[in-house]
Amino acid sequence: MSFFSGLKTAVHSTINTSSCSFCNVAQTQTGICDTCFVAIESNDISCGRCASAITHKRTQTIKSVLCGRCIKKPPHYHKVIAASRYQFPVDKALSELKFNKQLHYARSLCCVLERQIKLHYFDAPYPEAILAVPLHPKRLQERGFNQSEIITKHLSQSLGIPTAGNLIRVKNTPHQIGLSEKQRRKNLNNAFDVRGTLPSHIALVDDVVTTGSTVNEATKLCLRYGAQRVDVWCLAKT
Ligand SMILES: [Zn+2]
Ligand SMILES: [Zn+2]
Repeated sequence: MSFFSGLKTAVHSTINTSSCSFCNVAQTQTGICDTCFVAIESNDISCGRCASAITHKRTQTIKSVLCGRCIKKPPHYHKVIAASRYQFPVDKALSELKFNKQLHYARSLCCVLERQIKLHYFDAPYPEAILAVPLHPKRLQERGFNQSEIITKHLSQSLGIPTAGNLIRVKNTPHQIGLSEKQRRKNLNNAFDVRGTLPSHIALVDDVVTTGSTVNEATKLCLRYGAQRVDVWCLAKT
């Protein structure tokens, strides 16, 4: 069954459906079947900081590979952990989650992200708190929910890490699509604020990370308010 025919039926099913969100055929406890899990999970060689795909082969070990951008100008955050690449069917699923409130995709994709997180922290402690990348109150009112907050709640429950709501969005930034890196940075200047102080190791959670400008700007501020290490967790990286 194609992704779209699966989607059509998924729209009419409830959040607690036991069929896989992606093929809508297999019955599953987690919202995603093993076949779709393997197909969706990101397993290519990616940059150890920003998680961008690295295409050409290098002699270094996979863990130490960095992309040219991160070598030239390292980001403020420690590293990005992504469940998947932003490509079919994950791109469609994320837009269904965001614009049509198809929340079952959050649950299925969080299962994939959880595994990546467990692999990354197998010999290191989890962050002390996880924070959703916030929406501006006006945007939140329009959409009715923040998908990053839903993802954060899922991960907090399954991994047993507390959430923190200190990070707020004080500037209603226009959509970043089609903007250059410089324009994005300008847009995001003073977009966030932090209330109170933060624990020293935190993770910021977002649905999609594209250039990383948003999470980098949020990280910069978190580092000023007590955080010493900021990891970024997302469902998909472009
Ligand atoms: Zn499936
Ligand atoms: Zn990189």
